[in-house]
Amino acid sequence: MTTTVPGIPAARSAIEALGPAELLHRLRVLRSSVEDSPITHVECVAARVGRTTPWPSWVPQALREAYGFQPWEHQAAAASLAHAGQHVVLATGTASGKSLAYQMPALSSLLADPRARVLYLSPTKALAADQLRALVRLGIDGVRPATYDGDTPREEREWVRQHSRFVLTNPDMLHHALLPGHARWGPFLRRLTYVVIDECHTYRGVFGSHVAHVLRRLRRLSTQYGSTPTFVLASATSGDPADAATRLTGLPVVAVTDDASPRGAVTFALWEPPLLPPETPSQVPTQRPTPAPAAVPATSAAFDGVGDGRARRSALSETADLLADAVVAGTRTLAFVRSRRGAEVVAALARRALEEAVPGLGDRVAAYRAGYLKEDRRALEQALLTGELLALASTNALELGVDLVGLDAVLICGYPGTRASLWQQAGRAGRAGGEALAVLVARDDPLDTYLVHHPDALFGRPVEATVLDPANPYVLGPQLCCAAAEAPLRPADLPLFGPTAQIAVDALVSSGALRKRPTGWYWTHQGRPDVDLRGTGGTPVAVVEAATGRLLGTVDRGSSHVMLHPGAVYLHQGTSYVVEALDLDDAVALVHAEEPDWSTHARDVTDLSVVSVREYVDAGPVGLFLGEVDVTSQVVSYQRRRIGSGEVIDTRPLDLPARELRTVAVWFTISSKALLAAGVEPGDVPGALHAAEHAAIGLLPLVATCDRWDIGGLSTADHADTDCPTVFVYDGHPGGAGFAERAYATAEEWLRATREAIASCGCDTGCPSCVQSPKCGNGNNPLHKRKSIAVLDAVLAALHPRIGPARAAAEA
Ligand SMILES: [Zn+2]
Ligand SMILES: [Zn+2]
Repeated sequence: MTTTVPGIPAARSAIEALGPAELLHRLRVLRSSVEDSPITHVECVAARVGRTTPWPSWVPQALREAYGFQPWEHQAAAASLAHAGQHVVLATGTASGKSLAYQMPALSSLLADPRARVLYLSPTKALAADQLRALVRLGIDGVRPATYDGDTPREEREWVRQHSRFVLTNPDMLHHALLPGHARWGPFLRRLTYVVIDECHTYRGVFGSHVAHVLRRLRRLSTQYGSTPTFVLASATSGDPADAATRLTGLPVVAVTDDASPRGAVTFALWEPPLLPPETPSQVPTQRPTPAPAAVPATSAAFDGVGDGRARRSALSETADLLADAVVAGTRTLAFVRSRRGAEVVAALARRALEEAVPGLGDRVAAYRAGYLKEDRRALEQALLTGELLALASTNALELGVDLVGLDAVLICGYPGTRASLWQQAGRAGRAGGEALAVLVARDDPLDTYLVHHPDALFGRPVEATVLDPANPYVLGPQLCCAAAEAPLRPADLPLFGPTAQIAVDALVSSGALRKRPTGWYWTHQGRPDVDLRGTGGTPVAVVEAATGRLLGTVDRGSSHVMLHPGAVYLHQGTSYVVEALDLDDAVALVHAEEPDWSTHARDVTDLSVVSVREYVDAGPVGLFLGEVDVTSQVVSYQRRRIGSGEVIDTRPLDLPARELRTVAVWFTISSKALLAAGVEPGDVPGALHAAEHAAIGLLPLVATCDRWDIGGLSTADHADTDCPTVFVYDGHPGGAGFAERAYATAEEWLRATREAIASCGCDTGCPSCVQSPKCGNGNNPLHKRKSIAVLDAVLAALHPRIGPARAAAEA
């Protein structure tokens, strides 16, 4: 594509030409009147000067020459620790050159010992492919790097096992193929010198706990084959990376966190889309907005986003326009959008706007997400690298899995849920030390709105720690079965799997999964244990064009009801399709190309029923329970909404089966009388319970090393199974994951911390630090902060005499 576009500088990007502040100013002028600026805050993150250091003396000359530059101090520090046999995690910012830190010791070992082997693990195939390209570019003789993943043809796998000395794979392949087939990998495992774990902060929650045991299984087999590899981990900046890496590997890991790479200044703007002018039902997104009337009160409406009956412009439309403006300015820009659908919509709107301005310009914008076929991904990555594409809309940084160079600006459409993700996404801008612009575009949602008006909540606090719990019994048991299926478990193996491994093994023997023999514990069944690391379950649904039979992509089972229901508008590569039929038995959705004027939004209904009660505490007006529950969600209808204005055209019923999750929940009940006595009027009960539920979910990681995204909740003023106002908190994983159990066992500590977090929060009516939830299915409504404290006080007062002393006795 060679279209010369007026206004696009050929050689220099807009950032080079204008600087980020000027670019931001230009975007603002394009998008708003002076009186009603969408920019609520601008944070200038200062530039950092890089500190290089001479190559460590142990690095061979050939390697130094292959790189042709000197390492940064943090790279050399981490590499030298690893070279000395110390397990190490390097936790520094995006683009700080973490690859060199593990390549240095790994490749040095391969050069020094022709039989040495290296295993590299990444969370995505795309990232592994990117690392492979980098290794190939280095051109070190005799390394023969190769990927070993689901895309590797059968006939190549044997070659990889035999000849590659630097195998790049992922935890799923390790779990499903490499470890169960270890006999064929014997020569590789015998010579294993380094295990590299890239992006290790992504191994969190239940998935992280599974991966922790996959790594223990790898360590056990390596020992049996005679190797003791050194682990080198790379992590995004996170709270306490040494602790997380130690829990992940089960080994003592030291952290290197002092980032010595140069960083260009980042201008970070918080952006709140303007209120829509009154009485404009169908504002076309491509239209330059008529400047909002100066009289618009921009602050009074800020908190709930809807003031005097007026809505804000959708963050998707706003991001699409900013993306289009950035392309016109010649800025290489990446827009992060929370959902796959959203990314497609942003790309489609931006393309349409550009196409109207200059025919052909729309081709320089694309959407990107996991689920695309490999060929599509590669083509997009390549086009962005060459500059043929100027803008991408994507779901998150990891799915990119590619070392994008020369991005000038990042637009973040909606708060991504954690500060760690926010910084990771913003860190994509400003490669090679150039100045960059990052913009967080707030969604019309109380949480986002709160954040763009309280910059301290984003810029003044450390990032979150990564949490995982290898002792989780629901993970440990199945993983011990996998280990036993690979090689009988011996008593000497058990400490590797943690202090509760013996108890878990005994339980597996009782249930018949393992059999004890004089030489150890054996897996008793035919075939391998069926253990899914990601707990998602089910075959992905194929999206097929009905007329041609062409496979467009896949959608995971869990999202298929929402994304592929009959009538759904499905976007692929900015092209719009409408779903004709969804066949759940065959896991196929048939679609045809059509570009309607509306988008579709599925609505689902979630219900919870109690299956059984395992344990409970009867505390008079208050009850505390642990038990099995069925969580049912059903997509029941969808809305058609006009693109741009969001105006609802109609709501259409759907006939899809309900999906059930049998899991474990903890719940408390409190009688209406007790609520009234605590000053909670009947009208305030739903908001008070809902607020308490959110905060309780947010605080559960304090007592159970889980992640709030692993947990779900439901609160109701009257539940059919309890006959009472009730708050449920449940494990979001089939069969439960141990979190609710932990919550029940530490209920007083958990609920007291919840109460304190709400009470000590300085806000008036609730904020993300206390009772708002980033994953609320009801748009954080209703919430009653003050009354939620009253509810928790009443619950704690009733529970304390019952469980306080009991717990003290149990601990003694
Ligand atoms: Zn608050
Ligand atoms: Zn909620």
